[in-house]
Amino acid sequence: MKVRDFYQTIYDMIGDATPLSTDCGKLCGSKCCEETDAGEGMYLFPREERLYRTHMADNRFKIYPTDLYTELDRCVYLYTCRGCCDRALRPLGCRIFPLVPYKKPGGALSIILDPRGAQGLCPLAAGDIRNLNEEFVRAVTRAMQFAVKNKEVCRFIEVQTMELLEPLLEKSAKNL
Ligand code: SF4
Ligand code: SF4
Repeated sequence: MKVRDFYQTIYDMIGDATPLSTDCGKLCGSKCCEETDAGEGMYLFPREERLYRTHMADNRFKIYPTDLYTELDRCVYLYTCRGCCDRALRPLGCRIFPLVPYKKPGGALSIILDPRGAQGLCPLAAGDIRNLNEEFVRAVTRAMQFAVKNKEVCRFIEVQTMELLEPLLEKSAKNL
């Protein structure tokens, strides 16, 4: 499957489902969509950066390579925006936030609240997943179950889990 078709399938599986049935941006002043500082933003899924190649003249976003690698020769890209975007082009990470796929190597996939969002950014991420719109959680779960069948996406989810999510989860468990 071509990269564009792969991601479009996933985007379609999520569709218009949103974290709450009302506009959650009213809870926090749309904090997750504020202009970010250098080095902050949304990690792109593998090869998702290719979808932006024909849109690089759009000055509302930038894409940077990071020092997070899924393979020796394949780094993860960071998407930074200025707090506004063409919704049809927003990254997968934005579509599923405040959820994130979690999977240790060899382990099962689960969908959790993103511990990065719980650090004072998102009131939903700091809460209980059962408070989210069920339709949204189901749609993200289905989409991630489809996505993880792709080897590169699976590897990305595992690297993100081990290097970015686990340290935060361990830290918050210690503080309980
Ligand atoms: S930070 Fe959380 S509550 Fe606020 S708009 Fe983003 S997802 Fe919704
Ligand atoms: S790309 Fe769009 S959805 Fe994602 S953080 Fe920026 S403004 Fe929000």
